[in-house]
Amino acid sequence: MLDRIRLDKVVVVPDDALPLAGGYPTNNPNLNDRTVDLQWGFPNDASIGTFYGDHATRSSSNPFYYEASLLHELGHARYLVDVYGFNVHVSAGNRIDILENGAPIVGTPYMPYVNSWRDAVRYTPYTGLMNGNGPTVDRHSAVALNLIRGRRATLGNYNAPGNLGAYLNDLPAQNELTVRDASGAALPGASVRIYRAGPGEGWYAKVYDNTADMSLTADAAGKVLLGRCPFSATGGITHTNNHSNGVAIVRVQSGDRVGYGFIEATDFNLEYWRGRTALGRHELRVALRKQGSAVGSVDEHAPTERVSQPLVVKNEVSDLVGQ
Ligand SMILES: [Zn+2]
Repeated sequence: MLDRIRLDKVVVVPDDALPLAGGYPTNNPNLNDRTVDLQWGFPNDASIGTFYGDHATRSSSNPFYYEASLLHELGHARYLVDVYGFNVHVSAGNRIDILENGAPIVGTPYMPYVNSWRDAVRYTPYTGLMNGNGPTVDRHSAVALNLIRGRRATLGNYNAPGNLGAYLNDLPAQNELTVRDASGAALPGASVRIYRAGPGEGWYAKVYDNTADMSLTADAAGKVLLGRCPFSATGGITHTNNHSNGVAIVRVQSGDRVGYGFIEATDFNLEYWRGRTALGRHELRVALRKQGSAVGSVDEHAPTERVSQPLVVKNEVSDLVGQ
């Protein structure tokens, strides 16, 4: 992290005065104030007495002392996107319709749930600030911040600015994917299919139909070429309300064994930012199972719990508004 941020200006306004120039009281306290690079408003609502009511306890769980969700919102104001939007869910407007031997793969060993309440099949590996679980900045957002280090806000100093997520389309011109089995052995000659996320309902929704969008054959080293953007037919990353195409499902078949995995646009960004702008290199390990062996054995794999804390509720609405 190359930039440092400090509190530079506090403006006290009359009760109920926010917003001063349109927008929302929290996200846009004063759209005309260009003197600062990030802004946030604190209206005199009930939260002042409750959410911010403890003026004495020095604790990261006391928002008056340290409000992690506010730092997350200021991340948006700078231009960062929600990294938790790269998680893959199968509820509330999200679906995976991929079938194996005529049966849905979700909840089988091909694609087990990763949480105990059985609504997610993948969590992004990038945990931290924009995944809603600070206090550290997630790796993807840290590099994105460094890309504009030292620069004044140019397209808005509030959540959300015009350059929100401008970096998501930093993708290498070509991308090579090596497919491996769970032990790490490359899978020469494997059949590799890519399923892109289409739009659904809700923030960062993903719907995967049962038709592969790319069908490739791995070379003798287990490598396939994915092009610049395997995530979309039009070559662009979408990450917004009702649609994120930032994660694609990969089906790998080697002989009569099949496994599933995911590729994530954030990894392509990181390859680009490493300087591999011409050729990004990626690896995917999949747990191969004999075709047809998995259907019906839903609980064969116990769900793996991972911490992915939701945003503090207080700021959730303004977060969505800002996106
Ligand atoms: Zn957010």
